[in-house]
Amino acid sequence: MNFKAIIEEIYQKIKVVEDKGELASYIPELAYVDSENFGIHISTLEQGNFGIGNYTDKFSIQSISKVLSLALAYRMLGEKIWKRLGVEPSGTPFNSLVQLEVDNGIPRNPFINAGAIVISDILISHLENPKDDFLAFVRSLSNNSELNYSHEVAASEKEIGFRNVALCNFIKSFGNIENDPTEVLDFYFDLCSLEMNCQELSEAFLFFANNGRRTVDNLSILTKSQAKRINALMQTCGFYDESGEFAFKVGLPGKSGVGGGIIAVHPNQYTIAVWSPKLNKKGNSYKGMRFLEDFTTKSELSIF
Ligand code: GLU
Repeated sequence: MNFKAIIEEIYQKIKVVEDKGELASYIPELAYVDSENFGIHISTLEQGNFGIGNYTDKFSIQSISKVLSLALAYRMLGEKIWKRLGVEPSGTPFNSLVQLEVDNGIPRNPFINAGAIVISDILISHLENPKDDFLAFVRSLSNNSELNYSHEVAASEKEIGFRNVALCNFIKSFGNIENDPTEVLDFYFDLCSLEMNCQELSEAFLFFANNGRRTVDNLSILTKSQAKRINALMQTCGFYDESGEFAFKVGLPGKSGVGGGIIAVHPNQYTIAVWSPKLNKKGNSYKGMRFLEDFTTKSELSIF
């Protein structure tokens, strides 16, 4: 399979299509990004790696970090994390409060904000230095010791994060947050502010395509079953209210973020990261979605 030729061809095509998306502006700092950026990087298990466009420029990975924080909590605590959150698509917006009332403070899944806030709480309870330890985990996965949080983006989100504050306090009222909500939110905002480029992102996620094992040394990050389960969650819950559409058009597990990044995983084959900052109406990268749809169509490879 000549991934390079396929990526080059689709990149040239999508680069010039009219971008009907909008920059996420509810986090003020995200609106300063150059909306023309467009980068792609594929990391494969057997056919090498390839990047094109702005694939070495860092961006705010936002909700994509929710997969990595889940992986760390799952690695450390195993199945008992599922007592604190569910595994069903929510069918409501990613920052919604309504279901929590009827569900007694148990978030529907780890990729809506409520679920990621509970995972942040779990990590705070079990890590000695949560921010440093999480960073060390992601650095080891992407083989880059310089990855970091963006203090500007975290501060910017803190200023407008009223809904996340409400979510965290609401969950705490049901007893499903153990720590001080201020500390939990501070960690959550930092997680969302993590900056990575497409190359680092596709490298960091490659263990999801490799049955839970890091490719450089075969170290087990997650068991095969755990990797399968997180891939299943990415498939069903990874794209806001468009997860069905992504499965329908692209056919791969993945996760997007409001910074315009998307990571997609083809188990036993590759991971591919795409970044284009303008978002469609559902909050997913407009060009990123278009690119990935063409990519699995042209390569005739998907999990289905
Ligand atoms: N930090 C963002 C928020 O909590 C994450 C949004 C996203 O990428 O889904 O609103």
